[in-house]
Amino acid sequence: MKKQFVVIGLGRFGGSVTRTLVSLGHEVMGIDRDERRVQEFAPVLAHVYQADSTDEAVMRQLGVHNMDHAIVAIGEDLQASILSTLILKDMGVPYVTAKANNDYHQRVLEGLGADQIVHPERDTGIRVAHQVTSKNTVEYLELSPEHSLVEIIAPDNFCGRTIKTLNVRAKYGCNIMAIRRKDNEMVVAPHADDYIYEGDLLVVIGKNIDITRFEKAIG
Ligand code: ADP
Repeated sequence: MKKQFVVIGLGRFGGSVTRTLVSLGHEVMGIDRDERRVQEFAPVLAHVYQADSTDEAVMRQLGVHNMDHAIVAIGEDLQASILSTLILKDMGVPYVTAKANNDYHQRVLEGLGADQIVHPERDTGIRVAHQVTSKNTVEYLELSPEHSLVEIIAPDNFCGRTIKTLNVRAKYGCNIMAIRRKDNEMVVAPHADDYIYEGDLLVVIGKNIDITRFEKAIG
């Protein structure tokens, strides 16, 4: 059976989540208290309603309690974000993802039983800082508070050498998980004898301190 999503708040973040879910083929209900947002999403969504998500009776009328996954994408209005999350969990929505604006907000959302808490601004900030300080880093993803994954342009001194001779694991404690070749071909879990070529992108995983050391070493 297909999963049913409801996105509450169709601003920049919620709007982007909604469009992507739709493009991935999912059924999405959209809710926003602002009529203009509802109009904007009418061509994209079969079910989009102007409603206040802090009104439990209205949420029930719309069938929000029958959804599999709710995404609370309310930006500025902390009270609305908190109340909506509380109501969704109270109504028995199995999985609630909520956007937090800061650590205090996160703690409150956790206390209310949010299943996943995201920090889009903070995460983008971290990624951009890595991209601007290390000219080879094109993508940075925090996997846990201690581990991350980076996509790095193969430095010149790596090219024409094998993974074994580079010895990245022993030198930096990081693992090359995949190589994306110039023609977009992916070599997943490369072999020690695989070569790195100019224009390759390396997907590297490791502890944050090791990744930072690796990024610094390759410039
Ligand atoms: P972003 O930074 O993602 O654009 P915004 O704060 O601009 O965040 O957008 C949040 C959206 O959530 C707005 O469109 C706003 O109308 C909507 N919203 C805020 N509170 C509620 C609520 N109680 N019920 C429904 N929609 C809400």
